[in-house]
Amino acid sequence: MAVYKHNISFWEQQSLLQLQYDVIVVGAGISGLSTAIQLLTHDDTLKVLILEKLPIGAGASSRNAGFACIGSISELESDLKNYGFDHTINTVRRRINGLRVLLDQLGEHEIGYEHKSGCEVFEDKLSFEANAARIPFWNEALEDYTYTKATFKKSNQNSMKFHFSSIENCAEGLLDTGKMYARLYNKAISLGAKILNSCNVANYEEVNEYIVLNLSNFEDSFRCKHLVLCSNAFSNSLVENLNLTPCRNQILVTSPIDKHPLNHGYHFDSGYIYFRAIGDRILIGGARNYFSEEDNQEHFGLNRDNIDYLKRFLSERILPGVDYRIDACWSGVLSGGIDRTPIVKYLSDRVLIGVRLGGMGVAIGSSIGQELAEMLIRKLND
Ligand SMILES: Cc1cc2nc3c(=O)[nH]c(=O)nc-3n(C[C@H](O)[C@H](O)[C@H](O)COP(=O)(O)OP(=O)(O)OC[C@H]3O[C@@H](n4cnc5c(N)ncnc54)[C@H](O)[C@@H]3O)c2cc1C
Repeated sequence: MAVYKHNISFWEQQSLLQLQYDVIVVGAGISGLSTAIQLLTHDDTLKVLILEKLPIGAGASSRNAGFACIGSISELESDLKNYGFDHTINTVRRRINGLRVLLDQLGEHEIGYEHKSGCEVFEDKLSFEANAARIPFWNEALEDYTYTKATFKKSNQNSMKFHFSSIENCAEGLLDTGKMYARLYNKAISLGAKILNSCNVANYEEVNEYIVLNLSNFEDSFRCKHLVLCSNAFSNSLVENLNLTPCRNQILVTSPIDKHPLNHGYHFDSGYIYFRAIGDRILIGGARNYFSEEDNQEHFGLNRDNIDYLKRFLSERILPGVDYRIDACWSGVLSGGIDRTPIVKYLSDRVLIGVRLGGMGVAIGSSIGQELAEMLIRKLND
């Protein structure tokens, strides 16, 4: 007796349903899309499919604040203390490379990139002076990568009343996250990648020379010769013992404001709070470190206490006495872990993973895509 498939028509089966690929990428964020772009740029005959569980956008890549950052001085100092010099410099080098790849691939103008230096704001004199004393050390360490002798400098800007002083990083910039995401997504498609949204990969198994992927919401299984997991904060359901922690981040955007004091991308409290202008609006996000989160961090929920904290920070410190509304409020999920560096490795002969991009994934994301694609191309050429 014939076996009928109920969830797909004869026509769909004939013309739309392709189940077998050379490479399947799980996750249509910056890292997954960049991997597909790099692979297809190298070999446009590859059959590449990207499976994404969200109907539109990504867990973090279309929800972030648009800071193209490589690390503020206090973040680098903290990494130096925790992980040592080589490790810290190597991560910064990957961020710088990723930002270059991103801008080259998508075009600065097309993604609203503005070369406005990142500005780390210090509230007290002691921590400002301790970090400022380290400027010569970091400028020398980064010179070969940023091509300037003055990556960091003390800022003359003092447009906000609450802070003591600040340190600028001239290798950073700001971009329009929506434009960047749309360009990446469309570029992957234009190079020949197929992207299927609303496809949640429940699990995968290696069967002979194929990897079989089962979806939670589709009867058929997909098959590929090589699998790349770019599932970032949501990877724990696919791979065990990753040492990866999902962390939800809140963001608010104000109504247009006549005159505001922001000319840079600002980092405060070791990068936990960040704010910037988007045209005549202000975006503020972060502060998750002040709130113990017991609920499921993988969900795009709104944490009221966190939102109230950001609102107070905005009204009391950045825009005192200014009239505005909050026009947008959302969350996204990034991934953290004990170690701040991404996990990029083979899980088996045919399965690669590139995850744990942390809070600076805009810049490093394209580096991760490049590294994954290069690893896979080497394997394909073996
Ligand atoms: C609110 C917020 C603000 C941020 N601001 C900045 C910033 O200003 N600058 C900066 O550099 N970084 C920032 N980040 C971090 C940055 O956005 C991330 O590091 C980066 O986007 C991660 O890219 P990704 O491709 O690895 O992950 P994602 O963009 O999360 O993509 C992974 C995708 O995999 C999909 N997926 C997971 N599991 C499955 C499955 N089983 N089946 C199918 N699909 C699956 C997910 O739905 C997700 O879309 C921010 C993050 C957040 C959340």
